[in-house]
Amino acid sequence: MILRPDGIIVAIDGPSGAGKSTIARLLAEQLGYIQIDTGAMYRAAALLLSRADIDLGDLGAVEQFCMTIDIRLELVSGKQVVRANGIDVTDWIRTPEMSLLTSRTSTLKPVRDALLKAQQQMGGRGGVVLEGRDIGTVVFPDAEMKFYLSASVEERARRRCEELTAKGESVTLGETIADVVKRDRQDSERDIAPLRQAVDAILIDSSRLSIDEVLTDMIAMCRNKIKTLGSSS
Ligand code: C5P
Repeated sequence: MILRPDGIIVAIDGPSGAGKSTIARLLAEQLGYIQIDTGAMYRAAALLLSRADIDLGDLGAVEQFCMTIDIRLELVSGKQVVRANGIDVTDWIRTPEMSLLTSRTSTLKPVRDALLKAQQQMGGRGGVVLEGRDIGTVVFPDAEMKFYLSASVEERARRRCEELTAKGESVTLGETIADVVKRDRQDSERDIAPLRQAVDAILIDSSRLSIDEVLTDMIAMCRNKIKTLGSSS
């Protein structure tokens, strides 16, 4: 039986550039669920911390500051808008500099505590697809469906490079590979909620698969889970 009022929780974890955002958005659309991009929340928090010039070495100051932040994800005309303390920061949080800064600020306990609470409140009713690094392990270890989406470093960097170039950023593949490797290391070696596959997550390697191929499999598995849970009592 599905024990949540609005449906199941689908957790998608994995390293940067594995295709989580696109897959999560399409999967949420197909299931009629809400998408929660937790990476965008960590990015927005990093932006606020840097704008306020908070000393990241002073955990007391970081904690105080985190109590004042309000991060919201809104869907406006089908596009996800990230609001941090009321300001639309959607476009500012996606630069390579913000990616690396976020990977650093997301190691801080006060930041994680604040966002963990917010994410649990946002997703607790079910009917959600959450993507991130620690959804299946920490945020919702009891999620009904867990995926770990990965791909080779080269393929993830190639995709990221294409994305940034399309946005007019000037980056090389070599730089992007170095960024991806650095971020993977920071995300998986941190003490709190490191990036890792939950024991009960389904591993999908998207290196040689198209978005459609990955999505078709994931939708089928989610629908099957919803059906099985819906018909059991
Ligand atoms: O997914 P995205 O690349 O936007 O995430 C940006 C950064 O936010 C990650 O590199 C990671 O450091 C952090 N993050 C996290 N936990 C999550 C989601 C993202 O630590 N659940």
